[in-house]
Amino acid sequence: KRRPAANAILAPSFKFEDMGIGGLDKEFGAIFRRAFQSRIFPPGLVQQMGIQHVKGILLYGPPGTGKTLIARKIGQMLNAREPKVINGPEVLNKFVGQSEENIRKLFADAEKEYKEKGDESGLHIIIFDELDAVCKQRGSGSAGGTGVGDSVVNQLLSKLDGVDQLNNILLIGMTNRKDMIDDALLRPGRLELHMEISLPDEDGRLQILKIHTASMVKHGHLDQDVDLKELAARSKNFSGAEINGLIRSATSWALNRHVKGGTMAGISEDVDQVAVNRNDFDRAFE
Ligand code: ATP
Repeated sequence: KRRPAANAILAPSFKFEDMGIGGLDKEFGAIFRRAFQSRIFPPGLVQQMGIQHVKGILLYGPPGTGKTLIARKIGQMLNAREPKVINGPEVLNKFVGQSEENIRKLFADAEKEYKEKGDESGLHIIIFDELDAVCKQRGSGSAGGTGVGDSVVNQLLSKLDGVDQLNNILLIGMTNRKDMIDDALLRPGRLELHMEISLPDEDGRLQILKIHTASMVKHGHLDQDVDLKELAARSKNFSGAEINGLIRSATSWALNRHVKGGTMAGISEDVDQVAVNRNDFDRAFE
């Protein structure tokens, strides 16, 4: 009743594919369910049952596999508000105290609402990309040897489980290097669920190909001679982002056929008949 979108994510019929995310198996569904289950029950009941909300998730794995995409979709599903997105290197500032201040600001809105409304507050999602840039193992003298990393991690920890504990935040951290993340951040009550997002397998690639060609197919712009299954087999070791790139490249070859003399003024009249064909994909693979 409170958050219908969150109910949808927990429904047995829920498919990540329908959200435009391909190649995530059932296991993922289970983890996501664990992460969001508590959020859809009335706060009173949650308290009576002694349930702790999951406050943080770590998504890790190679670049271009959809970590940002997943984090944003989760944001959309759980909260009408746009999630706050921040990049690790953006947080770091050479001026004393400024990096910590950047973290503090990130949580300010959530904090304000929590003070006013308590557990009735809406959920604030914070997407922290390239978390490793600020959260290297403490005491490693990293983050430019300034020790800034330590106090940034401390600031994050205090926001996650400090004195004024917030129940209305979900921090989604992302990294290509889980081993670089300070262990203290990965404990229960903090970024406690860890999900590896690896390169998609053949089925996953097929799903991603379908997702990114869906609009073309719907409007008749994908030639019948294109076999997505074959493309899935051929794109071994491609990330989702690379599959997307492959399709964009093939599309560009197809559109090219409708440009006369290489100028925009010379677009051929039958351009609405444009269809990406097998040969376009062959060229895109080169
Ligand atoms: P990075 O670590 O480089 O930030 P990332 O894992 O966050 O990468 P995204 O930025 O989410 O990757 O992916 C880039 C784009 O690639 C997405 O916007 C989407 O178009 C496509 N893509 C990646 N993975 C998937 C996927 N599993 N399903 C559908 N599209 C995907």
